[in-house]
Amino acid sequence: MNEKNIFIVRTGEVALKGMNKPYFERMLLDRVKSALKELGEVGRGKDLDITRNEGLIFVRASKNIDPDRIVNAAVRVFGVASVSKAVEAESSLDAIGAEAVEYMNRLIQEKGVKTFKVEAKRADKTFPVKSPEIGRIIGAKVLIGCKVLKVDVHDPDVLLKVDLRHDRTYIYDSKVNGLGGLPLGTNGKGMILLSGGIDSPVAAWMMAKRGMMLEAVHFHSYPYTSERAREKVIELAGLVAAYTGKFRMHIINLLPIQEEIVKNCPEEETTIHVRRFMMMIAERLAMANGCQALITGEDLGQVASQTAEALVVTDNSVTMPVFRPLIGMDKIEIMDRAMEIGTYEKSIEPYEDCCTVFLPKHPATKPKLDRILESESRLDVEGLVERAVGSGETVIITPGRLPEM
Ligand code: ATP
Ligand code: MG
Repeated sequence: MNEKNIFIVRTGEVALKGMNKPYFERMLLDRVKSALKELGEVGRGKDLDITRNEGLIFVRASKNIDPDRIVNAAVRVFGVASVSKAVEAESSLDAIGAEAVEYMNRLIQEKGVKTFKVEAKRADKTFPVKSPEIGRIIGAKVLIGCKVLKVDVHDPDVLLKVDLRHDRTYIYDSKVNGLGGLPLGTNGKGMILLSGGIDSPVAAWMMAKRGMMLEAVHFHSYPYTSERAREKVIELAGLVAAYTGKFRMHIINLLPIQEEIVKNCPEEETTIHVRRFMMMIAERLAMANGCQALITGEDLGQVASQTAEALVVTDNSVTMPVFRPLIGMDKIEIMDRAMEIGTYEKSIEPYEDCCTVFLPKHPATKPKLDRILESESRLDVEGLVERAVGSGETVIITPGRLPEM
């Protein structure tokens, strides 16, 4: 009988890395540790003993921690391919057999299991018995130890996996898939322009899934936009932080800039000018905070400001690369993804958006760069950007509670 619950955490793409593999594995170990630390004390001999061995991560947890909570937290860590709750035995056929019998007896009691098949894998090639033979021997022991069971090689109720390693052997029968991706922090840091809408939280999540740490910037037009709209964005950011851990968000009032644009530039150009200023401010904040890229939730052709021409004019305002992970997705696909990750319900809460405050009746869909630059030159761009950055506030976004899925 194992004194602790054991979980095998498998890595996904991390396993494909070459020379850098130990680095990715160490990062993933750190991420798993921080994801689980809210469930108990992490450390050698503590509530949660988390170690790395032969490309896998093992979590040994005291039995008073709910196993489902451990699995749910671990599968949400970027870079984790799957998690299995397992039992472990010393790597001898007698010890494995005894654990397998106990394991199957429990499944008979809990689930009324009637048939099984053993699938053994010998990772330790020095072990004197080969995998198919291990399977047969353990199967025979289970048949003797659990009288009600029969073997079914085609469609068993339980496929009992026996993973034989050098010092320990792990026994389990199911796995829960993780999100995949790469451990957070293995791919730099990006500044996400986070509105209160559906798209930008998904964009943030997708880049974080590729290992990018986040910092965020949100623009509002107070008092045209409300305090409640601000709170909503903070809550929305918290749902992203449920996957990434805490990050910082800069909150900037864009109203003085919008007023200048409305006063000095042609009406149909308003949106594109606003977008350029958002980018310039975000880039300034990104540089000051160690980010290598900007991230937006733009998606080709979705609205007037997201035509190819408009994106070119927007990009021209900054030199930093702009990552647009949603660029080739349909709105429906983005909405589905938002539901999967748990941000959708918060996103569709009604709110005022700073972009809609001075929305032109007929926005230019094919803006020309030279014209835009010409009208922009009537503004004190540098002064406006500087004042906006200087007057912003910074909040710490902490992980929120995702809706039940
Ligand atoms: P979303 O659902 O993310 O609001 P959208 O379809 O409404 O996207 P736009 O309003 O044109 O599209 O914005 C495009 C992108 O610009 C957003 O995905 C976001 O990255 C950024 N953005 C828009 N408004 C804001 C804002 N108020 N604060 C920060 N970023 C913004
Ligand atoms: Mg928006």
